[in-house]
Amino acid sequence: MSKKQKNKKKVVKKFNYTPQNSLPKLGKVQTKWDLNGLYYKNADDPQMEKDIKKTERNYKAFAKKWRNVDLSKSAKKLAEALAEYEQLGAMSEAGKPGRYLRLRTAINANDQEATKKLTLLSNRLRKLSNEVIFFSLNIGKIPKGTQNELLKNPALEHYKYYLERLWLSAKHDLSEAEEKIINLKSSQSYGRWVDMVEKMIAKRSVKFKGRDLPFNEAMETLDTLSKGDKVKLWDLLMTELEQIGEVAEHEFNAIINDVRSEDELRGYKKPYSATALSYEDTEKSIENLVDVVSNEGFSLSKKFYKLKAEWHKENKLHYTRKYESIGDAPTIPFSQAVDICRDVFYGVKNEYGEIFDNMLTNGQIDVYPQAGKRGGAFMSGSVNQPTHVFLNHLDNFKSLETLAHEMGHAIHEERGKCQTPFYQGHSITTAETVSTLFENLLFDTVYEQAAEKDRPVLLHDRVARDIATIQRQIAFFNAELEIHNTIKSAGAMTNVELRDCMYKHLKAYLGPAIDLSKKDGYSYAYIPHLRYGFYVYTYTFGILMSTIMANNYKADKSYIDKIDKFLCAGESDNVANIFKSIGINTSRENTFKEALRNHTDDINAFAKIVKEKRKK
Ligand SMILES: [Zn+2]
Repeated sequence: MSKKQKNKKKVVKKFNYTPQNSLPKLGKVQTKWDLNGLYYKNADDPQMEKDIKKTERNYKAFAKKWRNVDLSKSAKKLAEALAEYEQLGAMSEAGKPGRYLRLRTAINANDQEATKKLTLLSNRLRKLSNEVIFFSLNIGKIPKGTQNELLKNPALEHYKYYLERLWLSAKHDLSEAEEKIINLKSSQSYGRWVDMVEKMIAKRSVKFKGRDLPFNEAMETLDTLSKGDKVKLWDLLMTELEQIGEVAEHEFNAIINDVRSEDELRGYKKPYSATALSYEDTEKSIENLVDVVSNEGFSLSKKFYKLKAEWHKENKLHYTRKYESIGDAPTIPFSQAVDICRDVFYGVKNEYGEIFDNMLTNGQIDVYPQAGKRGGAFMSGSVNQPTHVFLNHLDNFKSLETLAHEMGHAIHEERGKCQTPFYQGHSITTAETVSTLFENLLFDTVYEQAAEKDRPVLLHDRVARDIATIQRQIAFFNAELEIHNTIKSAGAMTNVELRDCMYKHLKAYLGPAIDLSKKDGYSYAYIPHLRYGFYVYTYTFGILMSTIMANNYKADKSYIDKIDKFLCAGESDNVANIFKSIGINTSRENTFKEALRNHTDDINAFAKIVKEKRKK
């Protein structure tokens, strides 16, 4: 059979799934965002300027009313001011114009009209947020003794967690003038640098098989190529990144020096202290997670790759084959992905299915890739605004999982709306827990139905993907930490040093069965998350905690009440307390070790499959 025929055969492999629940009738599904219906008629809709003007009026009125009021004197006055502040932040008119324009640029990066208007709008809004910056700074200055008194006052009961959080971070506040300058300069000192490298990469292309292949598209198609082609294309891409690295070197040194000097001004001790505080997490919990995964977790991933190499009857597998499936990938069109997700969501809780149905029929999910559309997937939600899911659906299993993941975020967002505006958000840590929980629920349902012969493939592919979320993200964390510490102690890092640092940390979780070269370390320039200030740990934290939740649910279906409590908690307490309220202790190192057990079991099960295969 020629290769072409083989590929053709792959495409028609169907995915078998029979829904288990009787589902309500679904209306007409829209596969594009209905931004004109949900926000404004177009960029010139006069309503937009009216909304911005109203926002400006309200912000100025708030500033005028409260700027010179001493809020430390009366709990009642403070409660009144906070209530107004909460409403101000929740104004639908304040968020609507920015959301409309930003979402437009996500589905079309070449939308110049939206891009320009968005820049002008951002300048206006930045000035507005500077108008009211005094408010939290003034509350932050209330002396410790008075803080304790106020927290006991019943008039402030609703604001207790909000105030606790505000006072916890107030220790790191600067003066109003300094805060304003940092705000106004943030785009030049960080945003523009990151944009520059990202855009340079997006504009690059490589010559592959007689065709100019854009860099990002090449990265996406890598997994679909034969092993020889994978290696060839990857090498071309790394050569591009080696060149980009000459610029990325300066970007990294600039943005990391910027954050290091701001941290020093604000009195943050460790490179991830500010992240822990803003994610409502503790440094200790992050350190426990990183320790457990860097030790036990990394031995597990190294073991898995050794088994995977054995399965393929090779000594070493090239780095680009780390996710390669061991089976023929079935085709899952979006309509089938919708059927499966509806079955899973309705099966867990009616409300979850209904949220999905509404988003499908209201034009809140943008499904397919198209020219100019950004890559990847995300969920976007905000107080008093419609929730959106952004996909690049490719009719495969990974896209099905991505749909469940992003819908997990969306359902979390919607359930959080039972809180008042202050508490409707969520820490990124709890958010990534919910999204991976929905992936877990989906996988368990699909696996239960899978034919015996298909199970090894599902199992193997799941382990490979779990490693991308568990070990790989912690390897990134370790690399990022080393970059921060080295730039601080040595003054700077060169492109080659950054490459070697990345190589070292990738090697640490991949082990000897994966053929990794120093040149692969240039991938540091391409990984956006290394610029997000230790964001990466939340993926690992989330997937490990959600494994515990999924296990509890499998053992006892009534655990869904706890899951829903978790979703509805929004941001009403810190991460540790929200987990504690459903019986999970995130301050113990052992919790992370226990959470790795499923992953260990999966790898042991794969070891058995490899052993069986060897016997044959
Ligand atoms: Zn996510």
